[in-house]
Amino acid sequence: MNFTDTHAHLYDPCFATELDMLLERTTEAGVHKIFLPNCDLETVPAMLQLSARFPNHCFPMIGLHPCYVNENVAAELAGLKAYLATHSFWAIGEIGLDFYWDKTFVAQQEAAFREQIGWAKAAGLPIVIHSREATTACLDIIESEGSGTVPGILHCFSGTVAEAERTVALGLHLGIGGVVTYKKSNLPDVIRAVGIEHLVLETDAPYLAPVPYRGKRNESSYIPYIAQAVADALGLPVAEVARLTTANAERIFASVSGSLLP
Ligand SMILES: [Zn+2]
Repeated sequence: MNFTDTHAHLYDPCFATELDMLLERTTEAGVHKIFLPNCDLETVPAMLQLSARFPNHCFPMIGLHPCYVNENVAAELAGLKAYLATHSFWAIGEIGLDFYWDKTFVAQQEAAFREQIGWAKAAGLPIVIHSREATTACLDIIESEGSGTVPGILHCFSGTVAEAERTVALGLHLGIGGVVTYKKSNLPDVIRAVGIEHLVLETDAPYLAPVPYRGKRNESSYIPYIAQAVADALGLPVAEVARLTTANAERIFASVSGSLLP
């Protein structure tokens, strides 16, 4: 099997003491490539260290997560943009809008999101989007910034079938995570509506672990549980889900820049 985890915060301090074992378990599970979304300036050094230590497995992104947008947003964006000039990244992410945790900085979140979509266009990189209780607003911004011109992933997709169809129509893929294994999830319907050609897999480790680890710390080696739920929803063999979602991920992350993954 050749799975890809398109979204995992493996640089999180909760993994720091066991990185070699963690990567060994991940490879044993058939998960060979892991894309690392950034949060803010503070998370960059650990993310770059991890990517340098496992250059064939861990691939960094750069961006300001909407939950980290505050009164320092201008300085954060300037610092992150400077990294873009000096290091290689595979996407601008994770970026977007989060109206669930805090609405104090909604205007700043929207401005930061627009600015970072601009970085993606200028650098020829895809975008990885975080949206919580903000899917319509997120999609409106992507549409107004030029739909279909920036490939990307709406990470941890949790919306309706109609929102999924709009996301796909804008040229984006849906990131499917552990929630697909939860009993009450509508993701099987979403998955059947859009089809495997618009899906990629992700853990969002250390968050949102799939059943049977729900509520525990998540890690990239749990991707096969997510793939199995997708396979069940579509009536496909899990090996096909692995092959097709990995091909989708590789197309997204190499699409605009033309850079080849190892
Ligand atoms: Zn994330």
